[in-house]
Amino acid sequence: MNRCESMRPIIDAYLDSELSPTSAASLEAHLSQCESCRRVLESRKRLSRAIKKAAPRVDAPVGLGAQYRSRHRSPIRRYGPWGLALAFAICGASTAWFLVPRPSATDRLVDDLIASHQVPDGATCERLDTSSPMKIEKWFQSRGVRFEPQVLDFAGAGFKLKGGKVSQSEGRKVVALVYDHAGMPIDVFVTPSAYADAIPVDKGGVHVRTWGSCGLNYWAVASADPSVLVDLRDQFPSRDR
Ligand SMILES: [Zn+2]
Repeated sequence: MNRCESMRPIIDAYLDSELSPTSAASLEAHLSQCESCRRVLESRKRLSRAIKKAAPRVDAPVGLGAQYRSRHRSPIRRYGPWGLALAFAICGASTAWFLVPRPSATDRLVDDLIASHQVPDGATCERLDTSSPMKIEKWFQSRGVRFEPQVLDFAGAGFKLKGGKVSQSEGRKVVALVYDHAGMPIDVFVTPSAYADAIPVDKGGVHVRTWGSCGLNYWAVASADPSVLVDLRDQFPSRDR
């Protein structure tokens, strides 16, 4: 099986943000080098936009989306977008709710992380400016953070550790490592891995890339070119495979 044949089947899952960080990263790496797979991606995006535009918005009862997803795999992944289009033609608007689910816990977290990145001095945010990983670790502990993020400086690779932040998302503590890359701030938020994968997210010029390591989720957030976030991610040792 050549590289393209192994990548094509996961493009739909990628568009649906259903891939693990590792699979998404290897697909992104392939897409950056393969024009023919990029064309496939673009045509799937156009199709998905067309379907979303054609489907009426129907609000689902709270919890129904999660119930559905726990019982069924994504219809897009199972049948591809044409199968989904066919399902619409057959079932009509009554099934439209699963395409327009209410924001999930992960979506709400990502929105909070982006807001925290854009307004670094928000009311619920505390920060410590130091390049010492040890000071940052101790400070996290003193703030009641119950998990232990990998606090690492990658100045040699162009990612200089500038400090740490502690903020909240829906009552939970979220910490961030603050990096500087060529004058551009990058926040790497760390949460217990209680959230589903949500990558890649690109909203209003802000990019989010996530990965898992040692039972924690890392969320790199910046306006920098997304490939910079992938470079930073690759600096962290012992990512989950
Ligand atoms: Zn290819």
